[in-house]
Amino acid sequence: MTKPCIICVAITGSLPKKANNPAVPITVSEQVESTQEAFEAGATIMHAHVRNDDETPSSDPEKFARLKEGVEKHCPGMIIQFSTGGRSGTGQARGGMLPLRPDMASLSVGSNNFPTRVYENPPDLVSWLASEMVEHDVKPEIEAFDLSHIFQAAKLHAEGRIAAPPYVQFVMGVQNAMPVDGVVFDFYVKTVRRLFGEDVPWCAAGIGRHQMTLNQWAIAAGGHVRTGLEDNVRLDRDRLAPSNAALVRRAADICAANNRSVATPAEARQVLGLRPVAA
Ligand SMILES: [Zn+2]
Repeated sequence: MTKPCIICVAITGSLPKKANNPAVPITVSEQVESTQEAFEAGATIMHAHVRNDDETPSSDPEKFARLKEGVEKHCPGMIIQFSTGGRSGTGQARGGMLPLRPDMASLSVGSNNFPTRVYENPPDLVSWLASEMVEHDVKPEIEAFDLSHIFQAAKLHAEGRIAAPPYVQFVMGVQNAMPVDGVVFDFYVKTVRRLFGEDVPWCAAGIGRHQMTLNQWAIAAGGHVRTGLEDNVRLDRDRLAPSNAALVRRAADICAANNRSVATPAEARQVLGLRPVAA
């Protein structure tokens, strides 16, 4: 039995720059173009941060608004997910774009270490971001950098503060956070199924060279995947990824090898319990 696999493309992030890979889209028009290519290659969720012209991270709602407008125009039905992650702003500025009502937004529910800093997600801010998502009908994708974050998602769900079904993404391979460990991965999957039900959708992301490993594990285990230049700028040790679309095609190839179809926008929206394509 197979089920369609949702491919999320994380197009930009807040860290990689043109110097790391010239294909990283920085301006809104580059982001729209890169998203369209990735959409045509099979991605049905686009996860986005926005940048200033000097490539530094921004949380400017006006940029998010232009990005949303461009993606809606060029990628009909694609699920738009904005980042409320802590590298793009501080405090409530992280959620300043939520009134734009993207389909989804990432929600980090606990703190942990990142390569050179603490990734701070204090309880009052998490609570505020979750409330804003309810207020604006934005579905959270819970970022699980640690096992405790899955339990935090369960708590929010039990309190009726996140819409069903909860959608958890396991993130592995961030330096100083959870490494890429197959036993832990299996336990993550087992845990979301135990807490939220056998059929609950879930996703996984690996950083750097681990991106393909997590794509393979998640596709084989019946989950959904994330790829894109935010997490990894290389195709392999010797080659930079030429585009976000190239990374999406790689994930789609892994789906084919595992007898899984790539989800269409309509299928992905149904799996995630999202509103149908915006009228
Ligand atoms: Zn991100």
